[in-house]
Amino acid sequence: MDILQLKDKNIVVMGVANERSIAWGVAKRLLEVGANVIFTYRKERSKSKIEKVLADYTEYKTAVVECDVNSDESIQQAFSQIGEQFGVIHGIVHSVAFAHAEDLKNRFVETTREGYAFAQDTSAYSLVAVANAARPYMTEGGSIVTMSYLGAERVLEGYNVMGVAKAALEAAMRYLASDLGAENIRVNAISAGAIRTLAAKGVPSFNTILRQIEENSPLKRNTNQEEVADMTIVMLSSLSRGVTGETIYVDCGYNIMG
Ligand code: NAD
Repeated sequence: MDILQLKDKNIVVMGVANERSIAWGVAKRLLEVGANVIFTYRKERSKSKIEKVLADYTEYKTAVVECDVNSDESIQQAFSQIGEQFGVIHGIVHSVAFAHAEDLKNRFVETTREGYAFAQDTSAYSLVAVANAARPYMTEGGSIVTMSYLGAERVLEGYNVMGVAKAALEAAMRYLASDLGAENIRVNAISAGAIRTLAAKGVPSFNTILRQIEENSPLKRNTNQEEVADMTIVMLSSLSRGVTGETIYVDCGYNIMG
């Protein structure tokens, strides 16, 4: 029995920079369960990396499309191209975030207006813009999943402006869920535990964070790309058809600890 019902579904995966990216973990699983995966990238460097890893997946239906989420024009162009090529979009994985390094390094109180706006634009507003651009092609309903972090609700050292952007992202996710529910489009967030990726390199004291989680989480370890990918697959699949507007934690239980 195909309990996931993702076979031959068209899923857009945004945010693969390299093989360590959370989005790559999700894409790999999607390909394994028979979905068609449309990758979006911002930098040419990421495009080459995606094409390189896809060399092992030539028998699968994939596409690689440019999309800079800081630009409405780029988002529109990307989704028109995807719509034309694939007709229907059944799911989106929004795994994109960025903040200026100095805004993570400096004290939070020193965050500049520009740095604040840029982190919000890239990491939170982009979900709204993407959902709106994809909507005309999500004619059979679908599922949108975004990646968040505990810094959205707790003050975590070195997460600063990104924590505020993640708070906005989770709120935007709920408003989108309410807005798009009538079109049978579900919107959820995964709050992932700390994982060593390119984006994580920008967070000062990342090693301390990993050690704290290992010591204090109920499972006494850190989570990984595969565990986050598996839950994302569940949230994209029909197994989660009754769930929308939720933040699901994949963090070895760390968030429940005092
Ligand atoms: P990553 O660096 O592999 O992925 C981040 C992606 O965002 C990159 O592919 C980058 O190209 C993309 N991006 C940045 N600006 C963009 C723009 N303007 N347009 C299009 N794409 C853009 O790191 P990751 O850890 O896999 O991050 C993926 C998501 O997971 C992010 O939202 C991140 O905040 C979140 N997350 C990460 C962790 C962690 O510890 N790694 C924990 C919780 C949540």
